Amino acid sequence: MVLSPRLARRLRSTRSWIALGVLAPLGMLVVSGLMLLDLRRDAWDKAEQTSRNLLQVIERDIARNVEVIDLTLQAVQDNLRTPGLAQLDPALRQLVLFDRAATARDLGVMFVLDENGDVVEDLGVSPPRKGNFADRDYFQAHKANRHLGLYVGQPVVSRLTGERMINFSRRIDKPDGSFGGLVLGSLKLTYFGRLFERIGLGHDGAINLYLRDGTRITRHPYLEADVGVNIAGAATFERFVREGSGTFVETSVRDGVQRLYTFTRVGDLPLLLNVALAVDEVEAGWRAKAAVISAVVLVLCGLTVSLSLLFGRELRRRERLQAELARLSLTDALTGLANRRRFEETFERAREGARRTGRPLSLLLVDADHFKRFNDRYGHPVGDEVLRGLARCLSESVHRPDDLVARVGGEEFAMLLPDTDGEGAARIAAKVHETVAALGVASAGIGAGAVTVSVGLASRYGTGDGAEDLYRDADAALYEAKAGGRNRTRCAPGSDERHVADVSALRLVVS
Ligand code: GH3
Ligand code: MG
Ligand code: MG
Repeated sequence: MVLSPRLARRLRSTRSWIALGVLAPLGMLVVSGLMLLDLRRDAWDKAEQTSRNLLQVIERDIARNVEVIDLTLQAVQDNLRTPGLAQLDPALRQLVLFDRAATARDLGVMFVLDENGDVVEDLGVSPPRKGNFADRDYFQAHKANRHLGLYVGQPVVSRLTGERMINFSRRIDKPDGSFGGLVLGSLKLTYFGRLFERIGLGHDGAINLYLRDGTRITRHPYLEADVGVNIAGAATFERFVREGSGTFVETSVRDGVQRLYTFTRVGDLPLLLNVALAVDEVEAGWRAKAAVISAVVLVLCGLTVSLSLLFGRELRRRERLQAELARLSLTDALTGLANRRRFEETFERAREGARRTGRPLSLLLVDADHFKRFNDRYGHPVGDEVLRGLARCLSESVHRPDDLVARVGGEEFAMLLPDTDGEGAARIAAKVHETVAALGVASAGIGAGAVTVSVGLASRYGTGDGAEDLYRDADAALYEAKAGGRNRTRCAPGSDERHVADVSALRLVVS
């Protein structure tokens, strides 16, 4: 694959790597966050679906059982009109009256009350058990209202059996339409207990069955104290009544647990049924998953960020190292000046620049005089010290940022002076002689004036010729300076003759 130079440069940049190292984990966090939200939605969808299914199954079971009881009650209502019923003996009367009576396990009692509330017919019991129920809510209701149809009474404890039950009743009219008592069938609360107990709803889940007026008929898990409690004013119940069926999340008035309520009416009956799952349990599986995923993602993000930072730091360290190596490869170790390689590169560029702009370019080659003698007399280390001193003198003699002082040989230096004509270069050469004259190495007993240099000067205006020309000319001039007695500057012939008014005079000046 071929990378564009721009992309390749970006890939090499420390900043790009650090940015990538921070952005990638950020992206990872966003994606994981979205994924977790999605998983949470799934958990809720599943809980809602399960609740709806359960609710439907329970509602149908209750509605069917109540319908069976109601059909029986209606049959008794009809059978009571059978002519001659009162004259039949009790056993036969039972057969006629309760011919379609269901004898289910959870069916409590079934009897007929007269207009005074006394039991006059009792399913399966002859003579009927004694009892008066004129005080019961269903008796009062039917007595007061002829058109109630099927009436669902408050949950009660049976006076005959002591069991908790709920009563369903229908009014009996006398031929003149006045109140003639009622026929009643009851369903034991154990029926609901057995129906609900098969359903797993978690630790805090619940199923509630209410009367339309807010009275709780039963609850699963079953607690005696819950039966008969009226929650008509609770926010949850108001929604059950208002909406008929649906789903919502609300905090229970009973125990303060936040639950997902799924509710419905039971058939056409004044009964409301709900399945409530604890929110904590709906989300429990998701929370466990979310904790693991979050932990893994956070660890991965942390690792990615740390690795990117480490990588970035290492890249920066290598960049610094490379820069230092590059600098060292162009620096002379003894004097700290530019070395020959850097000189050559700079010289090449300067020559190009001069050719393009037509500006002058000057070169001074500076060679220590009789340097061998310093080594011989004072030793190599002192010779080195003198070379460092010379480097300082030469550096002090130039001031422009583009001027370059380099050590190009053992005791030989070059001074590249862009934008400087012969006259300027001669002035710098003079300055070199002047500063070198003051150089000494006190520790070795070398006093001022002991060290001298010879300088070869060459200068050109916008030369297009090879760089070697300028160098060769300066070298020849240096040779001349040596031959001429050393400690002097010689200007290469033809160096900038147009601008150095009197080259020979200049030679004399700097000689
Ligand atoms: P001349 O005036 O003709 O230039 O005489 P010279 O002795 O300076 O020239 P020559 O080329 O004969 O000797 C140069 C000496 O410079 C030889 C060498 O020992 C010494 N030299 C070269 N490099 C170094 C260095 O790095 N340190 C020291 N101490 N001496 C060096
Ligand atoms: Mg020398
Ligand atoms: Mg030399």
